[in-house]
Amino acid sequence: MQIILIRTNNKKFKTMQQQINTPSTMVNGNGLGGFNRVEKIDLTDNLIRQAVDQADLPALLATLAMITGDTSLISPDLKPPTPPMMTSIAPQGGMSMEAQDKARRLAVAAIIKFRDSGQTVQNAPPQSLIDQCVSYLVRGDLEELRPLLEHELSIIRDMGAPDWNLGDIAPSRSFRVAVIGAGVSGIAAAYRLQQAGVDFSVYEKNEEVGGVWWDNRYPGCRLDTPNFAYSLSFAQKPDWPQQFSRQPEIQAYLQTVTGFTGIRSRIHFNTEIDAMRFDEARGCWTLSVRDARGGLVEEEFNAVITAVGILSRPSFPDIPGIDTFKGQVIHSGKWPQSPNLAGKRVAMVGTGASAFQIGPSIAESVSHLTVFQRNPPWMLPTPTYHDDIKPGMQWLLKHVPFYGRWFRFWQFWIAVEGRLPLTEVDEGWDHPVSVGRANEELRQGCLAWMAGQYKDRPDLLAKVTPNYPPAAKRMLRDNGAWATMLKMPHVDLNTTGIKEITATGIYTKDGVLHDFDVIVFATGFKASDFLSPIKITGLAGRELHRDCWDGDCRAYLGIMVPGFPNLFMTGGPNTAVVINGSAIFSSECQVEYSMRAIGHLLATGQKALDCKVEPFEEYNAWVDAGNLKRAWGAARTTSWYKNSQGRASQTWPHSLMDYWNITATFKPADYEFIR
Ligand code: NAP
Repeated sequence: MQIILIRTNNKKFKTMQQQINTPSTMVNGNGLGGFNRVEKIDLTDNLIRQAVDQADLPALLATLAMITGDTSLISPDLKPPTPPMMTSIAPQGGMSMEAQDKARRLAVAAIIKFRDSGQTVQNAPPQSLIDQCVSYLVRGDLEELRPLLEHELSIIRDMGAPDWNLGDIAPSRSFRVAVIGAGVSGIAAAYRLQQAGVDFSVYEKNEEVGGVWWDNRYPGCRLDTPNFAYSLSFAQKPDWPQQFSRQPEIQAYLQTVTGFTGIRSRIHFNTEIDAMRFDEARGCWTLSVRDARGGLVEEEFNAVITAVGILSRPSFPDIPGIDTFKGQVIHSGKWPQSPNLAGKRVAMVGTGASAFQIGPSIAESVSHLTVFQRNPPWMLPTPTYHDDIKPGMQWLLKHVPFYGRWFRFWQFWIAVEGRLPLTEVDEGWDHPVSVGRANEELRQGCLAWMAGQYKDRPDLLAKVTPNYPPAAKRMLRDNGAWATMLKMPHVDLNTTGIKEITATGIYTKDGVLHDFDVIVFATGFKASDFLSPIKITGLAGRELHRDCWDGDCRAYLGIMVPGFPNLFMTGGPNTAVVINGSAIFSSECQVEYSMRAIGHLLATGQKALDCKVEPFEEYNAWVDAGNLKRAWGAARTTSWYKNSQGRASQTWPHSLMDYWNITATFKPADYEFIR
């Protein structure tokens, strides 16, 4: 482990705010280039004290204990009790005020001592010390958790890197992999292939990387998962401006990562895959590639990793007359560059996550906004949702070596269970709008928050109160912006139901015609049409969508489908974590599993592997049973979680630990091999 300390250009910063206005840096853990970049600590004692006042303490104490070796910083009386997550997370991991005071005193002293003693960090902290720091933050059996925790921490080295290289295990073999999509998952796949020395090409339908973050450029677009956890394990960034960063920041991060890793030159932009066919004799996939000029060429690959996302193809509702509207039509997932809504009469259809961010961002500028709501969303109280990370915390993240990594780890750990227990179906629970005791507690917590938001508007409160269990659909982060918008005099919440769209506006079911200049459809994506519209033909000429899935997509581990050898999926069926954790965690699990499978093929000199039917079926039965025990599986709601047959085909029902465990090892017994 090598730390590079960078002296800041201007050492005479006067205020904390000035301190954070330094250029963006990437701290790479041990993935990219094998170094961590931090800036030299040169604040006064007093400014250090001010910074620590704004720190996340549990992660800071673990960091300082590791870099100084002083384990009194992580003594048992300072251990965060991490009470179960309800509607919100206990600040500072639930530490008492007394423990927080002591923690701050110790942290300040440790940083000052570190500053004054040359700011060197041990080259390789002993594993026992790292273990102590991990044990301070987490609860449970460390031995059982160790592989997952080491992976997420990646302090000593990049634990997600493939443990093989083509040059070592099959030097004479030529093996090409196609990656479809250059969003978060495609970037992760490309980087891991590059690390393994495997030849690869990435095909991206857009003109830029980013996937959903490139497509969703609507006003107000930002994360709803804490940012440090929603970042690639091998590309850590210490200077996120917010805990829930905005779309431009995330897009810039992904572009930086593609440059940094050197994978950018391997990406074919504006290029779509129309079809792919597996040739059993050759053990290869032939891809029909539609290039930037519209020409169709065929390319052969040994394996394919799909990284197309599930929320990438906009869905328009099936409303009569939808094509007759003469004004401007916008879908949230394909926001035009500058639609100029100022002074316009705008309709927004939908009240999901996208609408929730768009509405408050455009309301001020339009002349009139009508929100058409079918079902209201449940809201998670998040008063600090739009807040910047405090300057002191930002300074610490940039100056205390490894703080960003420990902070990410801490965020990850809190979400390993997260709110998952609050979605559990209790047998015999008899309630119209909750599925169990914990789910009812969550509902009461959310209702109390909503009652506070709408205490002056009981009419609105009645309209925005959901009549289905919380977590049956995606829960949204709320800091009051939605209520503020709905209470504006020129904003209406229409719950009558849409009957028809005409040339000039929207007819509601009560027979009223509402005229508009613009209709914004925030109506979601064709999530269950996974991998559509690519025509995928596997063994014996079977087509994936027509002959295999027929509208009900399934996969083994969400990654492999029997009859489609060497086709690895990321973000596949039943892999969406919808209440706990970050989508990037499952994507990285899928990429690393695929790399293990490819490594096995190469090491054993086989052409292809095909998932057996038995493990596929057993696995899917386990997932289906799990989903039926969750609010989203048990409730009679419709959402992108479920397909048209009513099965929860997108959601992962078990814990993050479970997903880690089943993907951490490649089991050859689950596969047939083609030599
Ligand atoms: P969505 O959650 O599928 O919401 C679609 C909305 O459109 C729902 O309110 C739905 O109502 C409504 N709708 C559909 N057809 C309608 C009709 N005919 N009339 C009236 N309303 C209709 O889509 P989304 O908001 O784009 O979000 C999709 C997912 O993307 C989210 O769940 C989240 O996972 C992700 N996302 C994340 C962020 C973020 O903050 N990071 C932001 C945006 C999206 P019903 O509920 O009645 O079906």
